[in-house]
Formats: sequence, C-alpha cells, structure tokens
Amino acid sequence: MSDSCLTMTIQSFINVSPDSHFPIQNLPYGIFSPPTGGAPRVGVAIGDWVLDLARLQAAGLFAGMMVEPPDFATSSLNAFMDGGTAVWQATRQTVQTLLRRDNPTLRDDAQLRRQAFWPLADVTLHLPAQIGDYTDFYSSIEHASNVGRIFGRDVPLLENWRHLPVGYHGRASSVVNSGAPIHRPSGQWAPRGTAVPHFGPTQELDFELEMGFFIGPGNALGQPVPIAQAEAHIFGLALVNDWSARDIQRWEYRPLGPFLAKNFATSISPWVVPLAALAPFRVPGPAQEPSPLPYLQADWPGAFDIYLEVQLQTAVMHEPVTISHSNFRHLYWSMAQQLAHHTITGCNLRPGDLLASGTISGSTSDSCGSLLELAWNGSRPIVLPSGETRAFLQDGDRLTLTGWCQGDGYRVGFGAVTGVVVA
Ligand code: MN
Repeated sequence: MSDSCLTMTIQSFINVSPDSHFPIQNLPYGIFSPPTGGAPRVGVAIGDWVLDLARLQAAGLFAGMMVEPPDFATSSLNAFMDGGTAVWQATRQTVQTLLRRDNPTLRDDAQLRRQAFWPLADVTLHLPAQIGDYTDFYSSIEHASNVGRIFGRDVPLLENWRHLPVGYHGRASSVVNSGAPIHRPSGQWAPRGTAVPHFGPTQELDFELEMGFFIGPGNALGQPVPIAQAEAHIFGLALVNDWSARDIQRWEYRPLGPFLAKNFATSISPWVVPLAALAPFRVPGPAQEPSPLPYLQADWPGAFDIYLEVQLQTAVMHEPVTISHSNFRHLYWSMAQQLAHHTITGCNLRPGDLLASGTISGSTSDSCGSLLELAWNGSRPIVLPSGETRAFLQDGDRLTLTGWCQGDGYRVGFGAVTGVVVA
C-alpha cells in the first residue's frame, strides 16, 4: 500500500494530538540517548514519545524483513541513509505497522513498551548524522531579488540565476544541533561607507530560514546523478538556520563568496523527516522561465508545501513572537535540480552530506527569511511587542525556526531548531 493511501486513515495506539508534529504519518528519525544514560541510538518520534529502534531490533521485530536495516544501536543515521529506498520503505512500513492501533505486537507487550518508549522531553537528542560535507544553495528567487535590491542593483537578479542553482560549499564541522548556543563571532569588517577594516564582534548577526536535505546513497566520483534518479539519493529533510554575519560577509565575499561570515555555526533540527512522509504534500514548484538546460529539466512536481515560521524572543520577552512566515514551496530550484547540478561535474556526494536550500523568502514583507530583508539592511528595524527594535540579532536573543505540512486532521512537522545568541 502506498504511503499516500495510508495517510488519511491510520491511527496509532499512542495518543497524538492533532497539532503534534509527530503523528504516525510522519515517523522522523533521530539519534538520542535515553534519560537513564546509555549509548546514543536511532529513534523515531511519535507524539510526545521517542520509540527506540535499537530496542525493537534487539527484540527481533525487524527480523525477516525483505531488506533488513543496519544496526540501530549506533550514534549516526549514516549507515541507514546509505541503505537506500528499499530499506527505508521496509523499515518505515514495519515501524508504522507496529504503531498501529489495531496491531497488538507492541501495543499489548507491556514490558517491551516500557523498554522501547521514552518521553521526548526527557531524552538527549544528538546530531542525526555525521555530516561529511555541507553545501548551501541560494534557491529562493524572492530572497535573491531582495538582496539584489538591497544592494542597489538595477536588475536585482544576476544573469546566471535563472539558469543554475547558485550555491557554495559550506563548513560541515560547525553544523550544530538545535539548542547549541551561538557565540557571536569576531572578524574583520569595514564600517559602512568605508573601506578600512576594523576587527571586533560582528554588529550584524543574522539568521537564515532554510531547510536542508540529507543525502542517502552517494554517487561514485566521476559519475553524475541524472535528475530522474536524484530523489532516490534524498533520505529526508530538516530545518536549517544558516547564521550569518552580514558585516563580515560584505567585506570578505568578493570575489569568492561567503567564508568566515557563515562558518562559525549552522544549526539544524534533530529530527529528519523522510521524503516518504512528505509525499502527500508534493506540489509543482514555480514555473521556470527560461527553461533550464536539459540536465536540470524535471517533468514531475518537485516542490513541497511546508509552512515555515520564524520566532524571536529577546532576553526581556516572556514569550516568543512570530516575525516571519514562509513556505518551502516558494523555492525556484527543486532539491532534485540542486542534487543533479551539484553532481554534474562528477562531484561525489556521500551518505549524511547536508544540502541546504538557501534562505526561503516569500513575496510579502512579512515572509522574509532573514533580518537583512525584514529590516531592509538596517533601514527599517522591526518593532517587537516588548517595545524593543531589531535590525540585527542582539546577545540573549533566542531564534526559533519551525515548520510543518498541514494534513487533514494531522501535521507532518519538523519540530524546531533553536539557538540563543551569546556574547
Ligand atoms: Mn544560507
């Protein structure tokens, strides 16, 4: 039975509220340690619980599958990601079946349930993968156009932009899990209107609302992935905040692009939502004009309807306020196009690599995916309910990205990625 047939009807014996991000239709994967201690292992989020897949595996519940998954008693999803669609499908179906309301295997085994379910609020979540390489794209036409306007270009989009997914190779070593503090970086920047560099803490710290996808099976060096096969290399998606120091970026980026302005931290959400869970939310992306070159042409809907939100809470605020909302479907270039483009030279992707979308902005002033755009390069600071204003982030600010797909009576959500700025 296909995933999309199941989604409307199935229910779990675990109670899940309609606004939970983690119903039985989702089943995102993550790496966690139980509250009682013990080594990190693979888990699946369901409602307010984490289901311990290593424990289920030890109980023999994955035995006899057509394609058996790798060892789940492990500290990263890389081996599972490497398994490919056959093992992902078989595992997802097994876990979904075990969680169904009408299946007694786990439901009626009180002892195994005690050993396999942990309260989500009590576990320690780790980075989901060992990320070998991280690439960041620039695939929102609204974002790229806003940046062009902010920097005074008559034609906001550069001439290459509609022909290829612009990107750069980022820094994988500083990808951190949600909750990690973000230390305000110091660097070289030239005060506005000058060409004389100054050294000190960035005065223009920003966030970028992005989503990223994890590579499943890689490709051999020298062998590009044809676009028709690109999605078979996509394991799943997470939220990404690509923290950026705009003053450092402005001074350093010509001619080779971002370097220190973005290498100090990139935060990701801990749960990876499998591509299969997003199938009911697949939609056509924006029309592409002019038509891209043949290696980038795809004739299926390659976008996904994922509602996204940015929340800010300053040190004096008692609760966060939503400062922007956007949607993943706005992206001009699809994940399949990004992946095909990335590998067209023969560049080899490896399991666990992270490819991020670039800042996801919508077409309205309240749907911008960065403060650079929301406050228009500092010229229109946003006003918060506390009376404070923000052109860029201040120490003590807590920034949270969240997002979900809205189904009929359920949500397939991504949880959240949070970071607090510290001096
Ligand atoms: Mn970015």
